Amino acid sequence: MTRWVYGFDEIDAAKAAVDDDWDRVRGLLGGKGANLADMASLGVPVPPGFTITTEACNAFIAGDGALPDGLWDEVLTAVRDMEEASGKTYGGTDNPLLVAVRSGAKFSMPGMMDTVLNVGLNDEVAAAMIERTGDERFVLDSHRRLVQMFATVVLGMDGDPFEEILREHRGTHGVINDADLPPEALRATVDSFRAHVRARSATPFPEDPYDQLRLATEAVFHSWNSRRAFDYRRAAKIADDLGTAVNVVAMVFGNTGTNSGTGVLMSRNPTNGEPKLEGDYLLNAQGEDVVAGNRETKPIEQLADDLPDAAEELGAIARRLEEHYREMQDMEFTVEDGTLWLLQTRTGKRTAQAAVRIAVDMADEGLITKAEAVGRVTPDQVDFFLHPQFSPESLADLTAVAQGLNVSPGAAVGVVAFDPDLAERWGRDGRDVVLVRHETKPDDVHGMLAATGILTSSGGRTSHAALVARQFGKPAVTGASAIDIDMASRTLTVGNDTLHEGEWISIDGTSGNIYLGKVETVAPDLDNEWLTTVLGWADEFRTLGVRANSDEPEDAARARSYGAEGIGLCRTEHMFFDPERLPIVQRMITAPNLAERKEALDEMREFQRADFAGLFEAMDGLPVILRLLDPPLHEFLPSWEELHRHQTDLQLRLVRAADLETVERLVRELSEVHDMLGRVEALRETNPMLGLRGVRLGITMPEITRMQARAVFEAAVEVAERGGDPKPEIMVPLVSEATELARQRQLIDEVAEAVFEEAGRRVEYQVGTMIEVPRAALTSEDIAEHADFLSFGTNDLTQTTFAISRDDAEQAFLLQYLADKILTENPFASIDAKGVGRLMGIALDGARSTKPAIETGVCGEHGGDPASIALCHDMGLTYVSCSAYRIPVARLAAAQAALAAGAS
Ligand code: ADP
Ligand code: MG
Ligand code: MG
Repeated sequence: MTRWVYGFDEIDAAKAAVDDDWDRVRGLLGGKGANLADMASLGVPVPPGFTITTEACNAFIAGDGALPDGLWDEVLTAVRDMEEASGKTYGGTDNPLLVAVRSGAKFSMPGMMDTVLNVGLNDEVAAAMIERTGDERFVLDSHRRLVQMFATVVLGMDGDPFEEILREHRGTHGVINDADLPPEALRATVDSFRAHVRARSATPFPEDPYDQLRLATEAVFHSWNSRRAFDYRRAAKIADDLGTAVNVVAMVFGNTGTNSGTGVLMSRNPTNGEPKLEGDYLLNAQGEDVVAGNRETKPIEQLADDLPDAAEELGAIARRLEEHYREMQDMEFTVEDGTLWLLQTRTGKRTAQAAVRIAVDMADEGLITKAEAVGRVTPDQVDFFLHPQFSPESLADLTAVAQGLNVSPGAAVGVVAFDPDLAERWGRDGRDVVLVRHETKPDDVHGMLAATGILTSSGGRTSHAALVARQFGKPAVTGASAIDIDMASRTLTVGNDTLHEGEWISIDGTSGNIYLGKVETVAPDLDNEWLTTVLGWADEFRTLGVRANSDEPEDAARARSYGAEGIGLCRTEHMFFDPERLPIVQRMITAPNLAERKEALDEMREFQRADFAGLFEAMDGLPVILRLLDPPLHEFLPSWEELHRHQTDLQLRLVRAADLETVERLVRELSEVHDMLGRVEALRETNPMLGLRGVRLGITMPEITRMQARAVFEAAVEVAERGGDPKPEIMVPLVSEATELARQRQLIDEVAEAVFEEAGRRVEYQVGTMIEVPRAALTSEDIAEHADFLSFGTNDLTQTTFAISRDDAEQAFLLQYLADKILTENPFASIDAKGVGRLMGIALDGARSTKPAIETGVCGEHGGDPASIALCHDMGLTYVSCSAYRIPVARLAAAQAALAAGAS
C-alpha cells in the first residue's frame, strides 16, 4: 500500500522507499520537506512535523479532488506524533499546538500556494493560549494573521479589504504598526475579518482545527494546477506531473517579544561570494514580515548583540549545513524566546561572480574537489565576465522597444551614430557610440571598432556586422527589422518613438533586446582571481586543445592572454577589407590580364606578409593556421544593385547636364561604372555559396595561392630570422576532391622551397584542409593522404549538409522550424550530432585509417559552443577554435566534457 505521509524523523524510511536515491527523495517529499527531515536527522533544531508526499498530490488530482484512501488517517497519526514530540495538543485547550501548512515541490517554484501560519487557532484555543502564555497581544496577533492568510490563500479572497480593515483599526487606535495594536483592537480585527469572510466567501472561515488543516492541504494540492504555477513550469521547463508536497510544521513563534525574531540567512554572500554570513532579521516578527518590506530589517551581524546564543548557534549550523550539502545554503530561521529553530534550507541562488568565487573557495576549503569546482561553474557564468551586462535592477522596470538577433553578447550603451566616420570621430572624442546601420560593409570597420556596440536593421548571424562584432567582442544586435533608419533626417524610428543622431540607445547583444535611453551596466572583470583559478583548474582536466579564430595580431595576443594555444583559423580575406587595401584587391580581381593581376598581387603580398608576421609573433611557438582566400570574389566588389543605381543616376544627370565640362566628367564616370558593372556581371553567380569560391579560386587562379603562400613563408622566415619560432600551417578551404588538395599542396610546397632557398633558411610548416563539404567527409581517407591536418568548418558543413543557406534561413524559415519543433536546436548554434556529427565521425574514421594520429579540429563558430565542444571531446578531436572572447568558455566546457566522459 502506498504510504502518503513521512514524519521529519523518518528520513530513513523515505530513503528506503526510493532506493536511497536522494534525487528521488526530493521528488517524493519535495525540496523543502526532504531538507527539513534531513536537517532533523543531522541534529539541527527543526520543529516537529511531517510531509504529505507529492504522490498524494498526484493521486488527489487524478481522483478529481478527493483525498486518496488512507491519507487522512496517516495525517491524524502524524499529528499525534507531533503532539507527542512537542508535548502540545492540536485543537486542544491544554497547551495548544499550532501548525504551519507549507507547499514544497521538487524544484523551488514561485506560483505555488503560499504558506498558511498559525493553523489550529479558534476562539477557544486562543483563550487557552492566552491563559498559558499570559500574552494576549501575541495570541490575538497570531489569530488575526491566520484568518487573513487563510481567507486570501486558501479561500482565494482579495487581500485588500483585510488591509483596509487593519488600517481602520490602526487609525482608531492611533498606531502606525500592526504590532502596536492593543489586544482589544486585535480581537475586534479578528471579528471584522471573520464577518468579511462570512459576507464574501462561499466557504466560511472554518473554526474546527482539523477542517482548517484539511482545507489548507487541499488548497496546496489544487495550487499545483493554478495558472501561475502552470505558466512558471512552462517557462522553467519543469514537468507537470511532479506534484507538490505539503509540509505540516509545528509553529514556532518569532513574535512573542524582543527575545524572539525571524530571519533569512545565506551561508555566503550571494552577490560577490565572500565567505561571510549574509542575511536579515526582525525581532518580534513572524513569517513573511522580513521579506514583506514594511518594517526595516536588521543585518545579520547585529544578531550577535540582540540574541547572542542564537547567533552563535546559527553560525555553527550554517557551517554544518554547508559541510553536509557541500553547497552554499539559503536558510530561514526563527527564534522563539531565545531558542533557535531552522525552518528551511536550500541551495542558494547567486550571481556569476559569486558562483565562481564560491566554487574556488569551497575547493580551497576542502569542501569539494577541484573537479567539482570546475563542474559547478557554468559556461554562461564565465561568459558573463567577458562582457558588460545590464544590471538586473535597471532592467526590472524597462521594456525593450524592439528585438533583433543576439549575435555578439554583452551590453552596449551609447549615442546613435548612423555613419562610421561620425562614430569614429565621436569615439575619438571619448563618447560612447552605438553604430546603427541597415547593414555594415568592410568600409565601416573603423566605425565599428570605435563604437561600443553595433545595431543593424537587416543582416543575419553571419552578416558582416555579426562576424566583425564577435571577432572584436563588440556587443551587437543585427536584423532588428522593427527599426526604421531614415538617413535623410538622420533619425531612427521604432514604433512611436523617434531617436535623432546623438541620442542615447542601449542594446543587449546577449538577448537581442533594444532599449531607448541609457541603461545602467555592470563592468566585466576577466582578471578576477577566482575566475583565473578555476580556469587554471579546468586546464588541468581538459584534453581538448583550445585555439583562436583570429585575423589580427592584437586580437591574437588577447586570445593568447585568454588561454588560446594557437590560431585555428585566420581568415586571410579579412585582411583585404581594410579600406586602404580594398582598391588593390579590386584591381587584382578586375585585372584584364595576368600581368596586371600579378602587379596587384605583388602589392597584396606586401601587406599579407606584414599581417602574417604579426600573427606569428603574437603566437610565437604556437601553431598558426592560415586559410587561403575563401569567399567568392564578388564580395570584394560593389554590389550589382548599387552599381546599377549609380549608372541610372549618372545617366539622368547626363541628360540634364548643361555644360560640356560636366558632360565630359559624367561620360567618364559612366564608362568607369559601366566597366565595373561588366566585371561584376561576369562574376555574378546564381548560387555564390556553391560557386567559384574556396579551393576553386586557387585552382582557377593559382597565382592567388602562390601569392598567399609566398607571403606566409616570407613572413615565417623573417620572424625566424629575428629569433622567433613561427609555426605556419596553410589550410585549403572547401575541398571536395582529394586531387584539388594535391594540386594546391604541390603549388604551396614549390613556393616554400623557393622562399627557403632564397632566404637560405627553412621553417617547419604544415599543409592541411577543411572538411566542410559532405563529399570531403566521405572521401577523407584520400584527402588525408595529402593533408597534415584536417579542420572541420562546421558552419559550411552544416549549410552543405542541410542544404540551407544560413543567412537566408535564420532570417526566415529556420525560426518557424524551431518554433514548430521540426528542429529542436539551431544547427548553426550547436552541432547537429545526428547528421553533421555523423559526417564528422565518418571523416575521422576515414582520415585516421590513412593517418592514425592526424591532427583534427573544429574552426566553425561551434568551437565556442559548450554542447558542440562536448561532442568534439567525445570524438577525440585535437582542438576547437573559436573567437578570442569565447576562449575562457571553451576551456571550461572542454574540462567539463572531459570530466563528464571520465565519470561515465
Ligand atoms: P516559501 O516557500 O514561500 O519560503 P515557507 O513555507 O518557507 O514559504 O514559509 C514562509 C515563511 O513562513 C517562512 O520564511 C517562515 O518565516 C514562516 N514559517 C514557516 N513555517 C513556520 C513555522 N513552523 N513556524 C513559524 N514560522 C514558519
Ligand atoms: Mg521559505
Ligand atoms: Mg567555409
